[in-house]
Amino acid sequence: MIPEPAWRRALDLIGKADEIALACHVSPDGDALGSMLATGAVLRAQGKRVVASFGDRQFDVPRLLRFLPGQDLLVPPADFPAEPELMITFDSSTPDRLGLLGPNTAKAHEVIVVDHHLSNTGFGTLSLIDPHVAATAVLAEQLIYRLGGSLDRDIATCLYAGLVTDTGSFRHASTTPEVHQMAARLVATGLRTDEIARELWDRSPFGYLKVLAAALERVSLEDGLVWTYVPRVDRAAYGLPYTELEGLIDIVRRTDEAEVAVVLKEDDQGAWQASSRSKGAVDVGSICSVLGGGGHHNAAGFTSHVSVEDTIAAFRALLPSRDGET
Ligand code: 5GP
Ligand code: MN
Repeated sequence: MIPEPAWRRALDLIGKADEIALACHVSPDGDALGSMLATGAVLRAQGKRVVASFGDRQFDVPRLLRFLPGQDLLVPPADFPAEPELMITFDSSTPDRLGLLGPNTAKAHEVIVVDHHLSNTGFGTLSLIDPHVAATAVLAEQLIYRLGGSLDRDIATCLYAGLVTDTGSFRHASTTPEVHQMAARLVATGLRTDEIARELWDRSPFGYLKVLAAALERVSLEDGLVWTYVPRVDRAAYGLPYTELEGLIDIVRRTDEAEVAVVLKEDDQGAWQASSRSKGAVDVGSICSVLGGGGHHNAAGFTSHVSVEDTIAAFRALLPSRDGET
């Protein structure tokens, strides 16, 4: 639960600000971008000057999120105010996760951090952080109501994208009665759940099938760890952007014989971005934190600048041994 004085202070800071700069984590997912755009639309409707961005070197909205309404708020990181009067961050547990916009948090006069990661470092001047909620979108909805905003179909579409992304379409343990109640409020605005699901999960360029085939060809299963990797040359052969690989971990993690799944994806700069998932017994969030990243107990990530073999060896060394000792 977020304490009432924190909400009150948030409303006070927002009320006083003329220009509000919103940021979410790099390579945004539905929760990061959806929460930011929904909040941005409400703030703009209330007469604020609003800009929104994320700090990727190559500033492209991932293809599967291009259907989200309200993207005219987006500016590239170069056009983001260097010293914002008020900055609000979404779904980012550290300034690092904001990429190019990380340094702006140190220069902003006030920073409101809206997030649900347990690993959040509390880097703002005000925390709206609740690790018990399923998605940052849950907190964005609460902020919107407290601002006196209401949900139209476009705003609800953004929040719904966040909710379904982070609950894995209402499959993860985070799917509480409150999550379904929120979904009911959002769906009641008339949004198209079928179209959103198709945009998020049921389409991809043909090249994805080829890259997927190569990744599955390389998959290994060793002592309860299933893992694979995708070098950038694989993607280059089909002009496939890095962000198209987001769903690959969901295929790999289905392996019955594995407790933990890892996918290493080489980004356009040549760094390996690791996605990891646990079925519950192992805390991959702590493992990824040790490796310089972070996330949740069952879903986390980190960045590696060493080889695939060394990256997996480093991850494996932090796994509890299978006979129960650590
Ligand atoms: P994904 O594997 O879907 O990219 O990320 C899973 C979870 O781990 C998300 O909650 C995401 O925010 C977090 N995560 C992924 N990569 C990183 C990272 O490099 N650093 C931190 N702090 N968290 C990460
Ligand atoms: Mn999230």
